[in-house]
This record gives sequence, structure tokens and C-alpha cells, in this order.
Amino acid sequence: MRADAFKTRLDGYGIDGMLVTKKENRIYLSGFTGSAGALIITKGGYALVTDFRYTEQAGQQAGGFNVITHKAGEFYKCVMEEARKLGVTRLGFEAQELTVEQFTSYEAVAGGISLVATKGAVEKLRAVKDDEELDKIRKACRLTDKLFEHVLGTIRPGMSEKQLAVEMDIWMIRNGMSTSFDTIIASGKRGALPHGAASDKIMQKGELVTLDFGGYLDYYTSDMTRTVCLGKADAKQKEIYDIVLDSQLAGIKAAKAGLKGKEVDSIARGMIESKGYGQYFGHGLGHGVGLEVHEEPRFSVMDENTIEPGMVISVEPGIYIPGWGGVRIEDLVVITETDAEVLYESPKHLIEL
Ligand code: ZN
Ligand code: ZN
Repeated sequence: MRADAFKTRLDGYGIDGMLVTKKENRIYLSGFTGSAGALIITKGGYALVTDFRYTEQAGQQAGGFNVITHKAGEFYKCVMEEARKLGVTRLGFEAQELTVEQFTSYEAVAGGISLVATKGAVEKLRAVKDDEELDKIRKACRLTDKLFEHVLGTIRPGMSEKQLAVEMDIWMIRNGMSTSFDTIIASGKRGALPHGAASDKIMQKGELVTLDFGGYLDYYTSDMTRTVCLGKADAKQKEIYDIVLDSQLAGIKAAKAGLKGKEVDSIARGMIESKGYGQYFGHGLGHGVGLEVHEEPRFSVMDENTIEPGMVISVEPGIYIPGWGGVRIEDLVVITETDAEVLYESPKHLIEL
């Protein structure tokens, strides 16, 4: 089980127990999907502290965990008591998750236990997906391909970006998904906004439209971007589209185990720079996707981490020109022993509708 893999990492953080409260990390390590609860992972055993609402669910989902139901108002005390019973002296916590108030509440009842800040401890393990996770991500991606097909049959000039976004959200819900972020629909000049959430703007004939969307299916999300043209594309639209597509294909080809994130970024970025549009590509090439839509690892200018088989990462270069518009193309890939496998089947040539 995943908690077994995590407990071998405790020494590396100088702790003998880890308190896990971030929802995605809880799901990952225990399988428990409730909205409230804390895991305590130690070499000697695992505890899950939750409240009355979740006792039964936790018992069913979190195999291998000792489920403890805390009394009303005694959550923090109960967590620390369980940690003490498990022999913890240095308890790691998720520095990016706990609020100051929560930290102070744990500290007030810590007794002799030291609280130790850790950063991204579970997230590092989550970066490499196991077969069960890959299966879930593949299913989410397959459904997202179908959603794009639905988009191609629905989108038309005269429709507002928001109208289309609502259509997409409804489609996702009908097909068992839930949106994992506000759908980005940026048409015409709005395409220059890399994260332009759908607005009331009416989409016009002749405009490029960038659509960035994704949904959760069984707790794992997809993330996909396509840019289409409403009508015939002009020479400049074709030129920019082709540069972004070449960069995206180069990024996928470069994404190999053993390379650093920044090396993959630089190969794809180089394609755009060589055409003179480097200043219009201001974000990283990609990010990990799984239980969260943005997680470890990254393809970015700064990233020193080495790419490993089993990682699921987006490859999404873009060119954004203020006053003109933009193009982005995004796929998810899974890193294999030999290359990167694209998880979508949706076409990537410039679609003129
Ligand atoms: Zn995206
Ligand atoms: Zn993305």
C-alpha cells in the first residue's frame, strides 16, 4: 500500500511520524475520501482521526488504518494523543496546508511532541503514478476527448464564451465528470490572456478560440487545450498556430525519463524563440496532473528535477500577443521507459469550423 512506501521516507525528513491533512494526500495514502480527517503515518502503524459523520466510511475505505472517532471539539487533542500512542516524538506536518490557527491548535496540545514543517513530502511520492492511477487518468482523458468532439459540434459564431462553457460543464456532469477548474475560453483578442476564463464576449467568425478544460473522474483529473478557428484562418493565424504546434510536438518528443524538467522546457521554448516569438511565451511548458490539476513535477525554465517513468505531465506551449490574440495546445503525456505517450487522441491540426 502507498502508506508503506511513504513511511520509508520519514527518516529523510528527520521525523518519526507524519500528520497528513491535505485532502488529496489523504486520499492518496489511505483511500479515505471524506472532507474531514487527519492521517498519522508512523513506522509502527497508521491512524486516521475523523468525526462521527465519517467513522463508517473511513472503516470501509482506509484499509490498514486504525480509525479513531474524536469527540466533538477534541480533534486536535485526539490527533496528538494518537501520535503519542504511536510513539511519535517529531511529527511532520504539511507546511503549505496548515493555517496558523490550526498549527497553534496542534501546538497547544502537543505535550512533548515537536511539530516539524515539511514541504511537498507526499506530493513528491504522488508525482510518479502507479498503474491504478494511470488507469483512472486514462479514463478521464478518454472522456475529455469525447468532450472536445462535443465542443466541435456545438461551438459557432454568435455564441458567447460563457454559453459554450456552460454547455461543456453540463456535458461533463452528464458524463460523470465534474469540472476541475473554471473552463478557459478565450476568443479573438482575448486569446492573449493565457488564463482567460469564459466571458460574455460573443465569438465571431474568423476568430481563433482557445479552449482549456478538464474534469475529475473518480478523483483524478484531465487537462486539455485546443485552439480552433471559427471559419478560414488567415496567414498570421496559420503561422502562429504552426509555430506552437511544432513547439508542442518537439516538447513531447523531448520528454524522456532522465532529462531535467528545464531541459524539456528549453527544447520546446527554443522552437518559439527561433521564430522570434519567445517574449510571447511567458509561462512554463507543463505541470504534473493527477489528484490535483497542478502538481509535481514541472517543465519550467527553473526546474532541476529529473523526469521519471510514470510521471503524468502536460505539454502546453503558447504564444500570446496583446491586441492580436493567442494560441495554446496542451496534451497530457505519461513518461514511459523509452518516451512519452500522449493520453489524448483529439486532432491537433488547425481545425477551421
Ligand atoms: Zn489546461
Ligand atoms: Zn495545464
